[in-house]
Amino acid sequence: MMLGYLLARAGVDVYVLEKHADFLRDFRGDTIHPSTLEIMHELGILDDFLKLPHQEVRELAGQVGSDTLTIADFRHLPTHCQFLALMPQWDFLNFIAKQAVRHRMFHLKMQTEVADLIQENGHVSGVLAKTPEGNLEIHADLTVGADGRHSVVRERAGLEVIHLGAPMDVMWMRLSRKPDDPGQTFGHIDIGRVFVMLNREDYWQCAFVIPKGSAGEIRQRGLAAFREEIVRLSPFLRDRVEELHDWNQISLLTVAVDRLSRWAVPGLLCIGDAAHAMSPIGGVGINLAIQDAVAAANILGGRLLEGAPTEAELRAVQERREFPTRATQRLQMFLQDRVIRRVLGSTKPLSLPWPLKLLLRWPFLRRIPARVIGIGFCPEHVKASNPRIAA
Ligand SMILES: Cc1cc2nc3c(=O)[nH]c(=O)nc-3n(C[C@H](O)[C@H](O)[C@H](O)COP(=O)(O)OP(=O)(O)OC[C@H]3O[C@@H](n4cnc5c(N)ncnc54)[C@H](O)[C@@H]3O)c2cc1C
Repeated sequence: MMLGYLLARAGVDVYVLEKHADFLRDFRGDTIHPSTLEIMHELGILDDFLKLPHQEVRELAGQVGSDTLTIADFRHLPTHCQFLALMPQWDFLNFIAKQAVRHRMFHLKMQTEVADLIQENGHVSGVLAKTPEGNLEIHADLTVGADGRHSVVRERAGLEVIHLGAPMDVMWMRLSRKPDDPGQTFGHIDIGRVFVMLNREDYWQCAFVIPKGSAGEIRQRGLAAFREEIVRLSPFLRDRVEELHDWNQISLLTVAVDRLSRWAVPGLLCIGDAAHAMSPIGGVGINLAIQDAVAAANILGGRLLEGAPTEAELRAVQERREFPTRATQRLQMFLQDRVIRRVLGSTKPLSLPWPLKLLLRWPFLRRIPARVIGIGFCPEHVKASNPRIAA
């Protein structure tokens, strides 16, 4: 959606195809990072965006065993917004779509599911899609696979996927929030468990991290035992944990971390989760997808006005975004293996690891995780649009 908006803004004729009829799906990640907010500032849409209901998270806190500490402090970031905004992803997407349709070159086709690629002599020249009205063929100078971590586009293009693996899955659920609950968004690490709670004003968005493949076993032990586990981690939830009365209220995210070895073939580019599914650590998946979109628009926007980009031009997007992707995944893999795997396998009370002790002792060090999470590696900036192009 973001790439479609940026390209249409640059005067490129764009079709964004979305298989669903709307964006109303829960638990797809609601974090809008300071660097994404900065991009909105550069696009001149930040003030309108911040009028939408959202929460502003200025600090991330954690509890390891009985020690509580602040892990990241966003208040010193060199960005206009020194906070992470929490907003349902459908509000964010509807907002971007609303901005995009102001540009006459932007076309959003809902309920249009890409089923295959049109390929001629190893060159992708468009897609075949299914719509309620029947099949559709769309020919294009460039096809972009931004269809998420189960991307049909990357599969049909035969792009090689490098699987990096993850030791955990995540169970997502909501529990109501009361005015006198703690205000912070925080993670709780204890013997064998990691529990993250995002403050969504009137409810908590909770992530219960479990060893990979253990969801069936947890369900077998029953909801009562699951509720007890939650209470053990966050005792103040005891008076409302009964709200969870059906496993349907608890969604399972099967964590996958991967990346393509090549993001592009002639006529086709993959970005976002389709090019690299991220671990949920740091909640950076949306931010990286947006950064890819900005880089792709900067590199290819002007070129697309003249015709189809060459393969080398498409590869330039991967060359620009590969380092931030790999660096972020490397960090996530380190934390998955050194922290999450150990915690999930622990049977004894946990003590604060030394990097967290440093954060406790020297608060200014909390700016480092804030920068890595809030801005990330190699942030992108929107290039000024062509002033000759009318909106
Ligand atoms: C449970 C869960 C929680 C998460 N939490 C966070 C978080 O807190 N913070 C964060 O930053 N990230 C989070 N993520 C990751 C984040 O959602 C992704 O990294 C991000 O959305 C990637 O954006 P994308 O545009 O590449 O792909 P997606 O957001 O997956 O978008 C792909 C779009 O393509 C559509 N589509 C798929 N196939 C087709 C097709 N064949 N034809 C047409 N349309 C198609 C889909 O319907 C979807 O709208 C979470 C993910 C999950 C699953």
